[in-house]
Amino acid sequence: MIPFLDLHKINSRFKTEFKSSFNFFLDSGYYILGSNVAAFEDEFANYCGTKYCIGVGNGLDALRLILEGYKILGKLKENDEVLVASNTYIATIIAIKQANLIPVLVEAEAKTFNFKIENLKEKITSKTKAIMPVHLYGQLSTMGEINTIARENNLLVIEDAAQAHGAKNNDKKLAGNLGDAAGFSFYPTKNLGCLGDGGAVTTNNEALATVIKKLRNYGQSSKYVNEYIGLNSRLDEIQAAFLRVKLPFLDEENQRRREIATQYLAEINNKKIILPAYNGSKNHVFHQFVIQVSDREKFIKYISKNGIGTLIHYPIPPHKQKALLEYSNLTFPVTEKIHSQVVSIPMSPILTSKDVEKVISVLNSF
Ligand SMILES: *Cc1c(COP(=O)(O)O)cnc(C)c1O
Repeated sequence: MIPFLDLHKINSRFKTEFKSSFNFFLDSGYYILGSNVAAFEDEFANYCGTKYCIGVGNGLDALRLILEGYKILGKLKENDEVLVASNTYIATIIAIKQANLIPVLVEAEAKTFNFKIENLKEKITSKTKAIMPVHLYGQLSTMGEINTIARENNLLVIEDAAQAHGAKNNDKKLAGNLGDAAGFSFYPTKNLGCLGDGGAVTTNNEALATVIKKLRNYGQSSKYVNEYIGLNSRLDEIQAAFLRVKLPFLDEENQRRREIATQYLAEINNKKIILPAYNGSKNHVFHQFVIQVSDREKFIKYISKNGIGTLIHYPIPPHKQKALLEYSNLTFPVTEKIHSQVVSIPMSPILTSKDVEKVISVLNSF
């Protein structure tokens, strides 16, 4: 049996280091916003190439705090419109709504699963103030074009980088450093995942970084002095310690993911399966390897009977969710087709070459 994802196996490689991190943490007597959070913030900013990193509670809050921060700085105000991909994970849209802004959904491109640029341009109005590209499944959005459109229309660019830690563009700039600010998640299944919840904001904007640092901690400017109505959304000290253990291995793990993807792309050869687009560069970190199959139910049944685990990212598009009823009369044919056909197959740096061969042979025999 090849499970869809084996988190125990992923993390047990670091057991010894995790245990000594925990012992250090326990003995320090300092459990919130201590030396590990500060050190991880430095290390992750350095990794992404940004001036600032602020550790927060999770990926959703990272995105929300960026938006709240820009409201305080006067760059956004209630009811401004934010362009977001119609096929994203719903968290991106929830963050916009929580900040009392208006998500405007933009149709996807079937090949890359990211924004279709022409559709993005069409949705810009006088109320549009920001674009939130999502590097879905680990592949960078076309940030060059997006930044050009943003400059022309005076819009902020906020990356949802929750699935793209370490993805690199042609100029060797990393996800998190390709817009005005970025939100990351360290949910356990992400390419850089902790052992609980965690998230971060990266930016080169000092004013924004300063505001978010306060907002994540009740809006405090110093102990018991509150400047804003903030959140309680601090990266956990112990999770920061675990992330510091794993960060040095992120690049080699992403490289292994790309190798597996390259082999899948070369050797999965079945007319019933549509493979994802990949240009062979480091702009993709294969958070997920997502194929499309028109007879999805039958396919999943077949490969699970043959010992291969799968998941669907995601079965219901955001505009068809009960939580977003006000969007239910919209139609996004590409997004709807994507959601009806996608299947994620096993993809993780701990897959063995035997695992990969087994996945390929089962898929080819469907
Ligand atoms: C995981 C994820 C989030 C949210 O992260 P959490 O840490 O679970 O809050 C946001 N956007 C995308 C695209 C994600 O994959």
